[in-house]
Amino acid sequence: MALTSRLDTPMESLGARLVLATLSFCLVFTLLAIAVLTLSAWKVGVAAMTSELTQIEQVYQATLSKSIWEMDRESLQTHLDSAASVPAVGQVTLKITSANRAPEILVRTSAGWSASSWAPTRRLALVYEPYPGARETLGELALYGDERVLWARLRGEVSTIIVTQVVQSLLLAGLIMLMFTRLVTVHVQRIASHLGQLAPSNLGQALVLNRKKLHHDELTLLVTGVNQLQGSLAEYLAKQQRFEHELAEHRDRLAGLVQERTAELEALSAAQHVVLTLSNRLIHAPLAEFDHYNFECLRDIAQRLDASDALWYVLEPNGTEYRVFLAWHANASPVPLAEPLRVGGWPRLLDELARDDLLTFPSQAALANSITPGEAAPFAALRLEATAFAMLRGVDEQFGFLVFGKRMAVSSWRSDELALLAMTSQMLLQSARHKAQLVDISETQHALQTANTRLENLSRTDPLTELPNRRHFDEVKETEFRRARRTGQPLSLLICDIDFFKGYNDTYGHALGDQCLCAVAGALRASLRRAGDLVARIGGEEFAVLLPAATQETALKLAEYFRQAVADLTILHAASSVAGHVTISIGLAVLAADGVDNFDALFKQADQALYRAKAGGRNRVVCAVPVKDILDEKEES
Ligand code: GH3
Ligand code: MG
Ligand code: MG
Repeated sequence: MALTSRLDTPMESLGARLVLATLSFCLVFTLLAIAVLTLSAWKVGVAAMTSELTQIEQVYQATLSKSIWEMDRESLQTHLDSAASVPAVGQVTLKITSANRAPEILVRTSAGWSASSWAPTRRLALVYEPYPGARETLGELALYGDERVLWARLRGEVSTIIVTQVVQSLLLAGLIMLMFTRLVTVHVQRIASHLGQLAPSNLGQALVLNRKKLHHDELTLLVTGVNQLQGSLAEYLAKQQRFEHELAEHRDRLAGLVQERTAELEALSAAQHVVLTLSNRLIHAPLAEFDHYNFECLRDIAQRLDASDALWYVLEPNGTEYRVFLAWHANASPVPLAEPLRVGGWPRLLDELARDDLLTFPSQAALANSITPGEAAPFAALRLEATAFAMLRGVDEQFGFLVFGKRMAVSSWRSDELALLAMTSQMLLQSARHKAQLVDISETQHALQTANTRLENLSRTDPLTELPNRRHFDEVKETEFRRARRTGQPLSLLICDIDFFKGYNDTYGHALGDQCLCAVAGALRASLRRAGDLVARIGGEEFAVLLPAATQETALKLAEYFRQAVADLTILHAASSVAGHVTISIGLAVLAADGVDNFDALFKQADQALYRAKAGGRNRVVCAVPVKDILDEKEES
């Protein structure tokens, strides 16, 4: 990001910066040089002016001395003007001294001259020697240099110095710029362009600079560095590609493994779900449906295993052979394995199964290698290839074993299939146990039911005559009464009583009395005509007969038939005053559609009829008079 933003800013030339730096340096250097040279030029100028003034001094010393001596004023004036006209001279002062007069001062000054401390000044005593040995001082000559001349000369010098220095600096900067561009900038641009075009595909292209001579300098180091970097980068990229490739392969392998494992787990989970569903069905299966449910389990598991055949062998109770208990075949072809297998004929397989509850074989050949050919033959006949055997056995339980077979050989049984087989064998083992418990429970229930029925019957049966007793009669009478009221059909009731039975007992004894009771009961029972009719012993020698849907006419006929049947027994009865044998009297009452509201009322009618039969002489049938008629009779009397 930072790099990109730096590249986006306008480009600056290194050469230009170098030139600017050079120019700055040159400027400082030039200024210093100018200062030094100017100072030097100033000193030279002052020295030159001093030299000029000295020459003038020497030139005019003799002439001026002679003119003063000779008092030649005109010549003196001329010489002074001449000396003052020299450019370097700003002022000429001539002081003439004499013994008896005040000194005379003659002055010649250039226009615009002013006294200065910068310009040099020469003072010279004028001495004249008119003859050898007669030296006389005539005055003093003073020469003042003109400062403006000094400055003018210095200006000329300084201009030259500045021009020279500036030209030098510019030439130097230009040269540096040119050299830098040729030696550095071009190559740096080439390097930048090379680096800019670099990509993983062209990392092999080495960086070469277009230089005529073979140099060994910083650029060479840079090029070598760039090429080494490219080499390292190419190597690194190749290594990285190799790693990425390996990583991708590893990832693919891992993804494959994960997929495989996920598929296995999914298959396992699906298998668990199937087993759970089947188990639930088995748990709630009624005993009658149990084998069918087991068969469906066997079929569903076989289909899930992609098996063509599934068999459940159980050991016969005598322990000598296994027979096929359940068999499922995907193809409806004839099954040659239906016959039992002798225990002794399967030594190897049963031995193996005794050690390991689950055995799998990927092919018929593998099975044949593990067990004897005789043992393998039945499965070969079924054209099974891959086979699996699972024992159904508890500690002291033996529920046989399962066989699942495929028509195709496999490389090996998959782990999820093995898990399903293990779960299935556990499930069917539990199922077999459950069934055994259900059978036990069922048998116990049956025995209990039988006992209950017997007790129930006993509680409703008179032990002496084996006829329904009073309790039974009471239950049935209410049901029949309600039904008759509901349907509007008639209900007839007979009450039968043995005549003079006390006398019979007294005559023949109680035991014979019992026998007599049994005989009468048998005659009454044998005389019943319809399934719904009921005869019950309701007292010592009293019997009640319920005749549903029987009209008075029918009931009367039947009552007469009963009476006759008892008489036909011809049981001797010496104590009877109506006949020499045992007889009965019968009271009959019929419930009409508009009859009484409860059975007791009907019973009462029958009882009263019986009373009248007894009173009327016994050994007869008397019909009850409806209650309404009885009331009428009472009112009449
Ligand atoms: P009636 O003709 O008026 O019916 O005269 P009866 O003697 O039959 O009258 P009662 O009803 O007084 O007598 C019934 C007798 O039946 C009394 C009793 O000794 C006898 N008895 C009742 N139950 C049994 C029994 O289980 N076995 C025997 N042997 N006799 C019984
Ligand atoms: Mg009686
Ligand atoms: Mg009696």
